[in-house]
Amino acid sequence: MKTIEKLIAGGLAAMMLFACACTKGPESAVPTEKIDGSSLYVKKVENMPDDFILGMDASSVITEEQSGVRYYNFAGVEQDVFRTLAENGVNTIRVRVWNDPYDEDGRGFGGGNNDIDKAVEIGKRATAVGMKLLVDFHLSDFWADPGKQMVPRAWANMSIEEKTNATYDYVKDCLKKLKKAKVDVGMVQIGNETNGSLCGETTWFNIQYLMQAGSKAVREVFPEALVALHFANPEKAGSYEDYAKKLSYYSVDYDVFASSYYPYWHGTLDNLASVLSNIAKTYNKKVMVMETSYAYTAEDSDFSGNTIGEGGTFAKDYPFSVQGQANLVRNVIDTVVNKTENGIGVVYWEGTWITVGHESFEANSALWQKYGSGWASSYASGYDPNDAGKYYGGCAVDNQAMFDPYGKPLESLRVFNLVRYGNEVEVKADALEDVTLFSNINSRIELPETVNAIMTDDSRQPVPVTWNVTDAELENMASKLSSYEIAGDADGLTAHCFLNVIEFNFLENPGFESGELSPWRITEYGRADELYVEDKITDSKTGQFHMHFWSAAKNSVDFRLEQPVAGLEAGTYKYSISIMGGDAGDTEIYAYVLVDGVEVGRAEMEITVYNEWHTGTVTGIEVAEGQTLTVGICVKCAGEGNGAWGKIDDAMLNSMN
Ligand code: CA
Repeated sequence: MKTIEKLIAGGLAAMMLFACACTKGPESAVPTEKIDGSSLYVKKVENMPDDFILGMDASSVITEEQSGVRYYNFAGVEQDVFRTLAENGVNTIRVRVWNDPYDEDGRGFGGGNNDIDKAVEIGKRATAVGMKLLVDFHLSDFWADPGKQMVPRAWANMSIEEKTNATYDYVKDCLKKLKKAKVDVGMVQIGNETNGSLCGETTWFNIQYLMQAGSKAVREVFPEALVALHFANPEKAGSYEDYAKKLSYYSVDYDVFASSYYPYWHGTLDNLASVLSNIAKTYNKKVMVMETSYAYTAEDSDFSGNTIGEGGTFAKDYPFSVQGQANLVRNVIDTVVNKTENGIGVVYWEGTWITVGHESFEANSALWQKYGSGWASSYASGYDPNDAGKYYGGCAVDNQAMFDPYGKPLESLRVFNLVRYGNEVEVKADALEDVTLFSNINSRIELPETVNAIMTDDSRQPVPVTWNVTDAELENMASKLSSYEIAGDADGLTAHCFLNVIEFNFLENPGFESGELSPWRITEYGRADELYVEDKITDSKTGQFHMHFWSAAKNSVDFRLEQPVAGLEAGTYKYSISIMGGDAGDTEIYAYVLVDGVEVGRAEMEITVYNEWHTGTVTGIEVAEGQTLTVGICVKCAGEGNGAWGKIDDAMLNSMN
């Protein structure tokens, strides 16, 4: 291909290195000493073996370079990105391999257009600077993950026997190409995030044939390399144990049980250590983290939305900062080294995948389409219509890279070197924790005087904050049910307070959602054939529970339902409760309020027909210090025919101060 020719012609220095590699063996660029002068705080990971795998998935580098991306070293000089990775402690490059990521007209699917030729190219460059290659066979024509494991088009109509043979032949052929190119292959994974499906197969009985076939090919071509199997979702209780047990049952020949670990979704590091250790001990396997990453910024830089940014309902245990990114990586490494049995490595995904341009979506899109440097091009639509076909575009992880949008390495890249030695520079505030505040409507809003600073060593420390809001603005905010974001200054950083002005409810179990009656109680129980908390979402005003009553005979519903509330602050309150029902005949239904046992307010109510809710509200309830308020509903129905029935729900006691 023209583009590759151009790249090689332009990379004369790299060519010379390959030449050296062929004759004398590569000279490693991975340092054996600590890099001096970094501002990054890194707590040393104790007990780290020299050969611990510190990997970087760099699958998209070639298409990035074809798209015009230039990579630099810390001195600001343009340099082979694999050398820069090696110089900062990365000792393994991971690369994905798809069988045939091109359409009928030879147009790339994107995501780096990673076929075996790309892997050879990347492998040669990694080997030239002393790093090993970790080959990641997806056994698909495009992305394979827990959501999809599509069979390569050429294998679509094969029986499992044919597919097994094809896997063996394909993996063997690919590995031979790497061997011929003198690539230093350290590990090969058969399948990517194979949570119970692989290559279009969805039974372990079939999957294990494919894994066996791939493993056999690895043993034959690279007998020194480790065979890895790779899974995701360690947080799903029992799932890894289940996979490992099946692999053992089928006697699948592998060395490494590997896991993805994305802290936003994959549970705690302690859990990860626990599930991996269990497998290491039970099945005598090596274990590792095959993919991890963290955002250094919430900003997108390529006009194509990111997986992780501001907002979202994922766990965010570290700040989105260069230091936060490094701390996550350091802690994952520490977990695998010191808390996990037989832990052999951690690979970052994908620190070199940055924006291809800075002008516009259209300009970038043209490059993604032409060179395959986005996560998917439109040419993948035919193969993957439901995902790539709908959402094709740029890079969704450019804010998790370890290079900035202009190709300069971030200080966090040095974590791969510094974890071995520690770099405990002076600790300072790196980011501020957001504050979430709930304030009762019409009450004075009390903003906190300090916020927690997240320090560079991952500790927390309170620092004084000045909120950028006036008293008049706060008073105005307090008068409406709404949500606000208030900014503040603390230690030179910007603090954020997410303020929610809500109606507090001083009642417990106000909508019977505990499924129990308590602390409500039935008083003056005259009669009702049925009177209980009912679990029926269709008959509830909100939630799934409510109080149900029914009687067959005429004039047979008569009860009071109430809840005492002690310890209220002195002030003015309002109370409301809702009811629906029917077949009632003459009724006497009302919400009531007692203060120290004496009725001080009442709101008449009625029941009419199904699903027509009526709310009784008592306002202006004055409560003095030490008084007990009791709120309730009285229901008396002189029902005709089938008797009365009804549902009571959603009581509210709120301050009017
Ligand atoms: Ca992006």
